[in-house]
Amino acid sequence: MIENYPTTLLELEEQFATDEQCRAYLAALRWPEGFTCPRCGGRKAWPAQRGRLICAACRHQTTVTAGTIFQDSRLSLRLWCRALWHVTSQKNGASALGLQRVLGLGSYQTAWTVLHKLRRAMVRPGRDKLSGRVEVDETQVGGVMLGRKGRGIPSKSLVVIAAQEEGNRIGRIRMARIVDGSAEHLHRFIQGAIVQGSCVHTDGWKPYHGLDQLGYPHEVSKLKGQQPSAATELLPRVHRVASLLKRWLLGTHQGAIALTRQTILPLGTASSAAAAGSLSNARWRRKQPKTP
Ligand SMILES: [Zn+2]
Repeated sequence: MIENYPTTLLELEEQFATDEQCRAYLAALRWPEGFTCPRCGGRKAWPAQRGRLICAACRHQTTVTAGTIFQDSRLSLRLWCRALWHVTSQKNGASALGLQRVLGLGSYQTAWTVLHKLRRAMVRPGRDKLSGRVEVDETQVGGVMLGRKGRGIPSKSLVVIAAQEEGNRIGRIRMARIVDGSAEHLHRFIQGAIVQGSCVHTDGWKPYHGLDQLGYPHEVSKLKGQQPSAATELLPRVHRVASLLKRWLLGTHQGAIALTRQTILPLGTASSAAAAGSLSNARWRRKQPKTP
């Protein structure tokens, strides 16, 4: 169903022209095999007013939006679908102001609430750990920052990166700043970022030892020779991520980058495509935040 997601503004307008169309789209996402009563599992329902569905077996009333971020919202589903589309199609992230403008919302506060509801829903709760085969390595980022008296203050930070293997490509990634490259910190990161039972692929750095005992089949590739290129070939995905991270930091901070102790890199960095994809999993959250 996610394949039917509109890719152009025109498709969006045609596909989600009415609340009825939006509801049908959500129903197909929620019940791909057809309606299923949340109370008795019954497969047949009668449509009632205002999008309500009455289970033919137990008379339980439900809606396609029950338990989702759209539940009880005073905003129309058409508006929500447009907001969703806008947020997921902005390469550099949507802003509340942009959303307010695009949706023609009277209040900035409403736009802000909508944006944050969508952002929260785009994080997959409890399902965010990497799995399968995962490369892990650390990298130094940052450099020398000029102090008050013009002296250089070393401000390098150690960042540990995990990159899920997807064929030859990089799957999902996780990274975190760690105090040092000790077993304590590396193991803690791995346990927080990777599902137990996944194969963790590292270089021969001693502190990685013991991963097997923690329930992670451990694959070690040792460096042959001292060429830096050898390390890149050994764990190509984490090294690609590391160089992208460094380039991003340079671009963002124009060289004057200093990661302080408080700086924590996002543990989940999702591409816009991944964010759009994960929406299908995140849409039906149990929590029911307040209506904007
Ligand atoms: Zn029922």
